[in-house]
Amino acid sequence: MSTHTAESVALVSYNPATGEAVDSVPVTPAGDMPAIVARARMAQKAWAKLSIEERAEIMRPIGARLAEEAERIGEILTREMGKPLAEGVGEVGYAASSWTEEIDEIIAAVAPQSLEDDNRSTTLFFDPLGVCAAITPWNFPVLMPHQAVLPGLLSGNTVILKPSEETPLCAQAYCDVINEFLPEGVLQVIHGDEVQGKALVSADIDLIVFTGSKSAGEHILGSASNGLKRVILELGGKDPMVVLEGADLDAAVAFGVRNAFRNAGQVCVSTERIYVDEKIAEDFEARFVEKTRELVQGNGMEEGVTIGPMITSQQKALVTAQVAEAVSDGATVLHGGGEGEGNFVPLTVLSGLTHDMRIMRDETFGPVACIQRISSDEEAIELANDTPYGLGACVWGETQHAADVARHIQAGMVGVNSGCGGASGSPWVGAKGSGYGFHSGPMGHRQFCQVRTVSVPKG
Ligand code: NAD
Repeated sequence: MSTHTAESVALVSYNPATGEAVDSVPVTPAGDMPAIVARARMAQKAWAKLSIEERAEIMRPIGARLAEEAERIGEILTREMGKPLAEGVGEVGYAASSWTEEIDEIIAAVAPQSLEDDNRSTTLFFDPLGVCAAITPWNFPVLMPHQAVLPGLLSGNTVILKPSEETPLCAQAYCDVINEFLPEGVLQVIHGDEVQGKALVSADIDLIVFTGSKSAGEHILGSASNGLKRVILELGGKDPMVVLEGADLDAAVAFGVRNAFRNAGQVCVSTERIYVDEKIAEDFEARFVEKTRELVQGNGMEEGVTIGPMITSQQKALVTAQVAEAVSDGATVLHGGGEGEGNFVPLTVLSGLTHDMRIMRDETFGPVACIQRISSDEEAIELANDTPYGLGACVWGETQHAADVARHIQAGMVGVNSGCGGASGSPWVGAKGSGYGFHSGPMGHRQFCQVRTVSVPKG
């Protein structure tokens, strides 16, 4: 529930499960942006003069401190975002352990590299870009800031974070812990909505790391052209799941239900479209509905709850309208449907869908699983690719068959008999309208740097 405005002095964060105010932070006046950026630029000079090993020495203890604070910050996260408490605490715990584990991976990724030919020795240096603006969404309100803050800082940039206006408190709590260790001005947090986001993007910064909707990403890319600012845009998705004949149906159903409904479907790589071979579709649908019935919706602070509410009433209205439109266009409701109480949308399973329906094209970002039957691999591939998005995807079936189909899907990350996340060191990368630039893994860490070459003739 978001009843704040950018002009109000306090940005109040509301619990989406109960409607109660959790707490507030002061809104950052947009006019303060030049001074905030100037502070970051001044701090960056000294921060970048340190070697990466010296920065790492300052930053290493932060992982353990975050782990100590995981329960406290996780509870704030659940109260202002709605996900079950175990997931809120788990999200902060994951950020804490990744902080500890990724430091050496980042140091190795941005270490100088040597190239030789008969005439020259060249060294590639991965230098900081300068001041990095991180603008993040509410669905993983600690993890999304974390993915920009850690590589951004360690590679020698200073960072200005603008967390989502829906979840300012847990992002602030996460940064307060980090700031126990950092020199002043190296990491700053500003608060507000798109007014503050736009002011930050137009300020004198060097890199914009944005995670959020495709429409905001397009706007930011346009603004970034003024000054040729670097961008990393991680955007929305409409992830397909293909289930072929020969798939382990228990495993496929368990994954599909978890990944369609986790975080109430408010996940960029949620399973939003399911294409099932018509020969196994009836069995798959029956098992899918049965498994969905095991989930428990409610206030994330309550014991036993596995799925929370929508973040806002606007998000609820958007999801409910998509479902109603699909039903009036001929979709069959296998489970759920209709209106829920408060900010809750009933867990919904639809079948009989076609690509003429908006729900198969627009991002839903809610607890809705859409099942369409297919009669061939070619049809599955064509439908999976019939989208402007290309974030994640997965294919379930006999391993080689599924891997062959997976290779034709135009997503950045495709899983075979698993979710889309790759082995450790893989980038988090969207294709088509889901991304522009990417982060994570050695290749991703270098996106926070300017590569420079220095060449010396031989001889
Ligand atoms: P959003 O685009 O509305 O807002 C994201 C952030 O950008 C917020 O902090 C907001 O205040 C700010 N903002 C909005 N418009 C802006 C503009 N024009 N200029 C500068 N800042 C602006 O997105 P949301 O509703 O917070 O998050 C949901 C979206 O995020 C979904 O589309 C989801 O798929 C996407 N997402 C993507 C990934 C990924 O890794 N690809 C991960 C998480 C979420």
